[in-house]
Amino acid sequence: MPSFTTRFAPSPTGPLHLGHAYSAILAHDIARANGGRFLLRMEDTDLERCKPEWHAAILTDLTWLGLTWDGPVYRQQPKIPDYTARLETLIARDLLYPCSCTRSDIRAALAAPQEGVDHIVYPGTCRARPMSSRQPKDALRLDLAKALSEIGPTSFVETGPAFAGHHKINPTDALQTIGDVVLSRKGEDIVAYFLASAFDDADQGITHVIRGQDLFAFTPVQVLLQKLFGLPTPVYHHHALIRDDAGKRLAKRDDARALAKFRAEGATPADIRRMIGL
Ligand code: GLU
Repeated sequence: MPSFTTRFAPSPTGPLHLGHAYSAILAHDIARANGGRFLLRMEDTDLERCKPEWHAAILTDLTWLGLTWDGPVYRQQPKIPDYTARLETLIARDLLYPCSCTRSDIRAALAAPQEGVDHIVYPGTCRARPMSSRQPKDALRLDLAKALSEIGPTSFVETGPAFAGHHKINPTDALQTIGDVVLSRKGEDIVAYFLASAFDDADQGITHVIRGQDLFAFTPVQVLLQKLFGLPTPVYHHHALIRDDAGKRLAKRDDARALAKFRAEGATPADIRRMIGL
């Protein structure tokens, strides 16, 4: 089996744009240059927003770009019961607790605004609740302090331009910046995106994760989860993002940058590579 395996993991919720093209081509080219495998995974657990027509459009766009992937397209949807079953093994290890807090409950419980974090770190309101008090609508949160003491020192290697180096996960920082994350959403049997993705990177034998810099912030929590579940940690490479003329990051809704639109206007795959500097 080749030692280098990477993947492109789009969510089929809209058209691929130049930013996706950059990610997919970069991962594909690096895999081929290393004699490795390039896999395609549809992150389609969002049952409302993911559509078969976007799945089909993504395959059309990647094929048009001249990219080939190894093996069948991997889908997350059929794996949802498996993710849930694996997550629930943490219950017996006493690492999860049920939580019924709404966003406004959480804001109200925070004495002062939190600095240096771009999301709200859960203040721990429900942490003492036993699993026996779990209600159907409760979320499941990870007790991060317990998890950290179980796994010990943890680190990962990043090779992307902005954050290259060996990153040690410092427990004090993790408690302040990550906190007790939700691993399964309220009332739905769907695990958090970053957990599903961590399971799949292991199941697909991914040795190198190549993706946009916007996902760097998820990496420490994914690495912690890999350790908790005894999974290997891949090498990470977070690449710079393609921005629009105003310097804004491209989003799915930026249909103006959709690959299909450029194709309809007569652009070739070589033109796309030139536009994104590859
Ligand atoms: N599904 C994520 C996205 O479309 C990518 C996740 C990943 O590459 O780890 O942004």
